[in-house]
Amino acid sequence: MTDIRIGTGVDVHPLVPGRPMKLACLEWPSELQGCEGHSDGDVAAHAACDAILSAAGLGDLGAVFGTDDPKWAGASGATLLTEVARLVAKSGWRVTNVSIQVIANSPKIGTRREEAQAAMSGALSGAPVSVAGTTTDGLGLTGRGEGIAAIASALLERFADR
Ligand code: MG
Repeated sequence: MTDIRIGTGVDVHPLVPGRPMKLACLEWPSELQGCEGHSDGDVAAHAACDAILSAAGLGDLGAVFGTDDPKWAGASGATLLTEVARLVAKSGWRVTNVSIQVIANSPKIGTRREEAQAAMSGALSGAPVSVAGTTTDGLGLTGRGEGIAAIASALLERFADR
């Protein structure tokens, strides 16, 4: 029987003026604000990493990378995704697919969806990644433009014995 596991991840970062917007493994130069964070603040990548780690039973981003570890300061979303894929592969898991929804007023994911999906998939050894966007119609921290959020699901398949 095929051993498959699902995982969920969520991430939120505050928006600050003058910081480059990194989202879904892309830079968005037209954005006037970017996400604050120890790394590059890519909420889509971080939610995807947590979903993948959770599915493999390997904990969470904080446990794996450590927000205090200078090694990961400023790390790109693609760097973190690649490292997470390496860790789960080492544990005998292959990423089947990842689905991400970004909750933000801006940027609009749909304008660069194919590019975002290709960039994120590339960081995961070609595993299919779908990226969608939504808003909260002005409600809450994303609606007020104080931050952006992402939620992700990941499906993993075991390819090796424990
Ligand atoms: Mg984060």
